[in-house]
Amino acid sequence: MSPTAEAKTLRPGRLNIGPRLILGFGFIILSMVVADAVVLWQIQVVGTQAERLNDIDQSLIAVLRVRTDLLAFHDRLNTLADSQDADRLVTDVGPLRSAALEDIRRAKSALSLLPSDLQRDQTGLSTLEVLQSSLPSQVAAITALANVGDWPAVRRRLANQIRPLESLTSTLVEKVETEVAVERARAVSDMRRAQRRVLLIVPLTAVLTLLIAGTLGLAITRSITQPLDRLVEGSKALARGEFQHRVAISGDDELAHLGGVFNDTADRLRVLYATLQSSEDRLRLVIDTIPAHVWSALPDGSVDFINRRWLDSTGLPAENALGWDWRSIVHPEDLARYVHAWESALAAGQPMESEARLRRPDGTYRWWLIRNVPLRDEQRRIVKWYGTAVDIEERHRAEDALRRSEASLHEAQRISHTGSWRHDLISGIVTLSEEGSRIWGVDPDEDSSATEYFFGRMHPEDAPLVARAYQSALVAKSEYVSDFRIVLPGGTVKHIHSAGRPILNESGDIAEFIGAVLDITERKRAEESLRQAQADLAHVSRVTTMGELTASLAHEVKQPITAAVISANACVRWLAHDPPDIAEARAAAMRIAEDGRRATDIISRIRLLFTKGAPQREAVDVNDLIREMIVLLHSEATRFRISVRTALADDLPSVMGDRVQLQQVLMNLIVNGIDAMKAVQGPRDLAIASRRADREQLLVSVSDTGIGLPSPGADQIFNAFFTTKEYGIGMGLSISRSIVESHGGRLWAVDHVPPGASFCLTLPTRAERG
Ligand code: ADP
Repeated sequence: MSPTAEAKTLRPGRLNIGPRLILGFGFIILSMVVADAVVLWQIQVVGTQAERLNDIDQSLIAVLRVRTDLLAFHDRLNTLADSQDADRLVTDVGPLRSAALEDIRRAKSALSLLPSDLQRDQTGLSTLEVLQSSLPSQVAAITALANVGDWPAVRRRLANQIRPLESLTSTLVEKVETEVAVERARAVSDMRRAQRRVLLIVPLTAVLTLLIAGTLGLAITRSITQPLDRLVEGSKALARGEFQHRVAISGDDELAHLGGVFNDTADRLRVLYATLQSSEDRLRLVIDTIPAHVWSALPDGSVDFINRRWLDSTGLPAENALGWDWRSIVHPEDLARYVHAWESALAAGQPMESEARLRRPDGTYRWWLIRNVPLRDEQRRIVKWYGTAVDIEERHRAEDALRRSEASLHEAQRISHTGSWRHDLISGIVTLSEEGSRIWGVDPDEDSSATEYFFGRMHPEDAPLVARAYQSALVAKSEYVSDFRIVLPGGTVKHIHSAGRPILNESGDIAEFIGAVLDITERKRAEESLRQAQADLAHVSRVTTMGELTASLAHEVKQPITAAVISANACVRWLAHDPPDIAEARAAAMRIAEDGRRATDIISRIRLLFTKGAPQREAVDVNDLIREMIVLLHSEATRFRISVRTALADDLPSVMGDRVQLQQVLMNLIVNGIDAMKAVQGPRDLAIASRRADREQLLVSVSDTGIGLPSPGADQIFNAFFTTKEYGIGMGLSISRSIVESHGGRLWAVDHVPPGASFCLTLPTRAERG
């Protein structure tokens, strides 16, 4: 039978238990009342019989008294008659007569009071009436006879008149006695019958009452115990977790309601249990799936639950992991430490956290972060411990790698003389890496957390510039780069390159500045050496070029000297005139002086190019330089029939630079142009132009109609030692480019159609280059 079908075996119309019990008790009381009524009825019957018997007895006694009176009356009258005492007779007869009449009246009354069924025979009463009416007349007659002294008459009267009255009463007495006997027998019989009835009815009623009470009690008890049994059975089923169990409901009483409530409760419990089950399934799934080991332990620390992932990742069967058996998979080196931490936490009732290596099924170990926390009840007693272990192997490795990387970083910083720094703009605190502290010469006892410390250590000339650069980076929230010198307490000067960038917070403000400091002292020295080497090389290159130009230069110097000699001869001739022509001679002498100055200029320029000195920065007029170089190389150009044209801008601003180095650049470009045109058959034109360019720059170009840039190799002409010439060195353009770039400019070459090449350079014209 299905639970629902079973649940529907209802017995409708059943009363509630209360009314049912009241009805049962009512039945019992009613049956007892009936029994009692029957008993009372029978007692009543017996009483009535007794009363009847009593009445008959009374009437018998009254009749007997009448007879006794008559006998006594008769006996007295006989005695008096014998004594013949008339007076005495008259005196005594009166009371006797009255007494006899009184008793007759009572007897009459007693007989008349008898129940009607006993008065069927009226002879008794009539006898008494005869007595009542005849006695006074008989007494009167006897008294009269006595008074006259007729005693024989008296005796006769007594014998004839009074005597029959006596026998009359005797008959009456006998009759009454007979009736009494009959009545008594009947009463006794009635009473016996009543007694029998009572004896029968009382146990019968008791048995019946007991029977009814028992039946009702049984029915009521069954009607209560059966559903109760079903409820108990249901409760047991619930206790066993059989939530689908249904209690069969009968009727509509309290137990039926209770059964209904029980079934509803079971339903809800079933739904709740199902929900709980699914929640638990989900929870178990979660617990088994989460990337962590999860367990629970009893208050004494013995583990009573371990999740699937824990078991899978250790390869330990559940029975070997519970209690304290899990210790077998803890790394021997970590076991004592971890167990101590766990036992201390158990003793203190405090959460714990520890790291330990746990063995995997393949025998390898991984690091886990283990946490255990207690669960307490309302009385703060620990009822359970819950623990998790999270795999931190990667973190450990990362930490190891980080440690190694930090060590490498420190080493790298130490080797590269690079330190890192961090300026927290909220707290104002500056922190330096180890190498940074070493670069800045920070004493371990010193407080180097303020920016003032670092500015105080800078070279007085550099500190304001650095402060300005840093301040503007802070304002612009931009990167900051600065080169400066610092002076250590011993007086050692270091060159520092510092760079940093701002770290902005969510609101876009600078939270901190992080950066690096590089000790570039060595590099500076190397650069200085390199610069020196480059200068030396440039000098050598210059000297070499000058050597190549010796013939032309000699010719150039020879020209004014020859002119001076010619002028001197003319001067001599003008002085030899008679009279000497002083004016012509002065003019010739002045030309001599002019030629001498020209020769001196040329020589001093040549000497300048031969000089070897430290680069100087001065305002240089580039047009002047071009003109000077044209003068210097005029003979070389003429020698190869090259025409030199210039197009120089008038308003050209001066540049800040080294005159000799810039001359060397122009010389290299012009000499290269001449070289390129030496072999060409066509026109040989060298055009030199200068003009302003964009962004406060000036542009100088040297163009020729020569053989054009080498192909292939046009992209290599600025490389050191690249040459296409038979006796070339390949350093001219390389040196020229580094000179131009050291002046903040650029140098490049372009090929021409028709053949030829142009070399262009730009130089900044600002008084002070950034
Ligand atoms: P060098 O003159 O000793 O060769 P440079 O550095 O001055 O060294 O020149 C390198 C090369 O660049 C030359 O060998 C030549 O091939 C090329 N070159 C330089 N100037 C010109 C030019 N005006 N026309 C064509 N080629 C040139």
